[in-house]
Amino acid sequence: MKRNEPITSEQIAEKLHLTRAALRPDLSILTISGILDARPRVGYFFSGKTAGNIVSEKINKIKVDEIKAVPVVVKEESSVYDAIVTLFLEDVGTLFVVQDDGSLVGLVSRKDLLKIAIGNADIRNIPVGVIMTRMPNLITVTPEESAYDAAQKIVDHQVDALPVVKVEKQGDRIKYKLVGKVTKTTITKLFVELGKI
Ligand code: ADP
Repeated sequence: MKRNEPITSEQIAEKLHLTRAALRPDLSILTISGILDARPRVGYFFSGKTAGNIVSEKINKIKVDEIKAVPVVVKEESSVYDAIVTLFLEDVGTLFVVQDDGSLVGLVSRKDLLKIAIGNADIRNIPVGVIMTRMPNLITVTPEESAYDAAQKIVDHQVDALPVVKVEKQGDRIKYKLVGKVTKTTITKLFVELGKI
């Protein structure tokens, strides 16, 4: 391709002693994945991109906004008992703690809940606010950050979930409005999606 570009599928077929039909699936995979550029009535060009930099280009281009999932939320006053029930009912591993206006105040992971439940604490009377990891100690992402940035934060900070927040200024106070979540599941789903041909 590099030596003969632009080259038509007829010319490639002739050089390789194959039929055009036999080449068609290979050419379409190479074109869809960005390794080849196809120009109508001109032929195929080698794009100069390798498989590796096509993947990194893609995951850096995909924004958190496109992949974020719906967060399950509880209030700071909810009991640890209710939080555990919510964890099972909603089938999630992390609960986000918000105020009435939707601003993020903290989160509780399954291990936070397990830790308090394993002792003899009266979990029906302990509010989530007492055990949660609290802002400003949360690792967050914004909708504009890339899927790659989010995955990097999950790995670097060894956490299962990141709240997606929009930063809003109210006077001299900064509020973090919770608009989604990115979890290990979100990243795994993206991985599967990108792996599909
Ligand atoms: P698990 O409890 O299942 O191990 P994590 O690894 O996510 O789940 O949580 C480990 C600890 O880190 C918990 O105490 C949790 O409150 C805290 N944590 C979880 N997510 C974050 C985050 N995005 N930012 C800061 N701390 C977090």
